[in-house]
Amino acid sequence: MEKVTEFFGSMVFDDRIMKATLSEKVYKSLKRTIDRGTPLDISVANAVAAAMKDWAVEKGATHYTHWFQPMTGVTAEKHDSFISPAPDGRVIMEFSGKELVKGEPDASSFPSGGLRATFEARGYTAWDPTSYAFIKDGTLYIPTAFCSYTGEALDKKVPLLRSMEALNRQALRVLKLFGNDAVRSVKTSVGPEQEYFLVDRELWKKRKDLIMTGRTLFGALPPKGQEMEDHYFGSIKPRVAEYMADLDNELWKLGILAKTKHNEVAPAQHELAPIYKTTNIAADHNQLTMEVMQKVALRHGLVCLLHEKPFAGVNGSGKHNNWSISTDTGVNLLSPGETPHENAQFLLFLAAVIKAVDDYQDLLRLSVATAGNDHRLGANEAPPAVISIFLGDELTAVLEAIENDTPYGGTAKEKMQLGVDVLPQFSKDTTDRNRTSPFAFTGNKFEFRMLGSSNSISCANIHLNAAVAEVLKQFADELEGADDFNAALHELIKRTIKDHKRIIFNGNGYDEAWIAEAEKRGLLNLKTTADAMPKICDKKNVDMLTSHGIFTEAEIFSRRDIMLDNYIKQVNIEALTMIDMSRKEILPAIAKFAADTASDVSVKKSVASVECSYETRIIEKLSELVDELDLATTELEGAVNELKDIDVIVTASEFVRDTILPAMDKLRESADKAEALTAESYWPFPAYDKLLFGV
Ligand code: ADP
Ligand code: MG
Repeated sequence: MEKVTEFFGSMVFDDRIMKATLSEKVYKSLKRTIDRGTPLDISVANAVAAAMKDWAVEKGATHYTHWFQPMTGVTAEKHDSFISPAPDGRVIMEFSGKELVKGEPDASSFPSGGLRATFEARGYTAWDPTSYAFIKDGTLYIPTAFCSYTGEALDKKVPLLRSMEALNRQALRVLKLFGNDAVRSVKTSVGPEQEYFLVDRELWKKRKDLIMTGRTLFGALPPKGQEMEDHYFGSIKPRVAEYMADLDNELWKLGILAKTKHNEVAPAQHELAPIYKTTNIAADHNQLTMEVMQKVALRHGLVCLLHEKPFAGVNGSGKHNNWSISTDTGVNLLSPGETPHENAQFLLFLAAVIKAVDDYQDLLRLSVATAGNDHRLGANEAPPAVISIFLGDELTAVLEAIENDTPYGGTAKEKMQLGVDVLPQFSKDTTDRNRTSPFAFTGNKFEFRMLGSSNSISCANIHLNAAVAEVLKQFADELEGADDFNAALHELIKRTIKDHKRIIFNGNGYDEAWIAEAEKRGLLNLKTTADAMPKICDKKNVDMLTSHGIFTEAEIFSRRDIMLDNYIKQVNIEALTMIDMSRKEILPAIAKFAADTASDVSVKKSVASVECSYETRIIEKLSELVDELDLATTELEGAVNELKDIDVIVTASEFVRDTILPAMDKLRESADKAEALTAESYWPFPAYDKLLFGV
């Protein structure tokens, strides 16, 4: 077998390949674009395109594609071949700088939320040179941003890049105040931990709900679930281990730093974590990881489920967004430093994050809102829908000391003085213990844990970066005008702690009492997508997002509509699938079982006069459930019909929340009861025990 060090990144047009294949002048100019965002001129683009094409063709590629991330949440691609006719009737392989930097997919069918009238439907894709091109399945993939001709963002990459730029701008202002003149750029990094389920493909094929919606819409709980907690970090079964090894290899070839793999809490649930990267690259890599996970599973006779809640009653899947901010000089701004000076700077950035999370709870909550994730948040397996920050006891005590002008720690006599005192060393142990917090400080980064497993990480990071950029702007405005910097800094941090400490909560986030306490503190509890998503259009959010150039007002309204539309459509498909399964599979199966049991009874009675009380009871119970189920199905049909007539999108989303989802729950309840009473051989699709323990 080839060594990992040799094949890692072999399918990526990375820095090493750029250096080897580009002239020094072209390489330097491209590097400037990548590192500092200076515009690329066409002669450089031509040279890069030619080198990319030669490298790709050498590796067997015949096509190229502008790879982009429209609002569907999955990636999109249209493949063009490199071929170009030659005078002698043959072909040559060509690829120009123009084709590299700009593409024009006929993209009229992507959701734009009304941003793009169909007569000018063509959007265009623009190369993101900061994310390396790569080869997959014989095609050269060029990561791109997707915009309308009038410049509006139609994807998740454009606003993500804008949010990173906003944060860079404001963080540089703050760093200047601390005298860090050597810093030229500030970037955020993310390491997303990805959870997923694996089920056997043959079983999967028998379930319409999994095929159509990615989750089970019916299913009685098996005798054993996750209560023994024997799966978490348990030994990995051979078939799963083979899958994971194959997956690692595929990801490594694509230059993705897949690092950690283990079993998760639920049976059949697993996790993969990469080493962190600059945010937009991490976002590209996470999209690619999800795609490759699903593809590789098929080779092993498995299906990889990325849905947030594939099974009721066992844990769902999330994605932990480990996030930090660092400078091009290699300083992590969320890491407590070793000198008083570094510490003061750290505390200011920490205060900025605390205020940002408090001021923009709604944006963070809605950035992870989907129909799938609504099943997870607050379900005693994932953080509640209430946003709070975990800091750990040590750091919380430091902040309290600053707020109250009291000494910190047992031995200290003097009050905590910023810019003079050194912070104590925090042990990573104590900062990382709480797993129930939606937003936890873990030593040198924050872990945003509310993301759903199928979410693109872009949305969460757009809003997180934007909120922090806004607070850094406010801080810079205030501090730039101060006469005595240290005094002003101290005052600012103190005031920020006082005003925003309500968002800090170090206790158990799964506890009911916390929800009541959070309400007392005035924290938001946006339980569903229908509750959360409209908040993006609140004036305070529109003002903030537009002032940093992250979205235009039109983009914000269009995004609300697209996300609500996704929510409505997803639930609608689930409802229709339930109706279909109920009418065509479940009701007939129960009826058949009841009929067979009844004919047994008459046979037995004709032979001998036996009581048959068991059979009679089952038949009675089942016929009750059949009536219930039939009625619930009819009710759901009615609700789905009613939904069709609601034109206003916000109203429709509320109808989904208040009427369709409860009707689905009711239908499921009677079906699951019937499943528990019906002989296994009659049940029309594989039950939970097979799905969860079948691999
Ligand atoms: P956990 O205890 O949550 O498993 P780890 O230390 O293993 O924590 O890290 C989890 C993820 O956090 C990994 O993807 C890792 O690369 C990422 N990570 C580590 N340091 C940083 C950082 N400074 N910024 C962003 N992500 C980071
Ligand atoms: Mg983690």
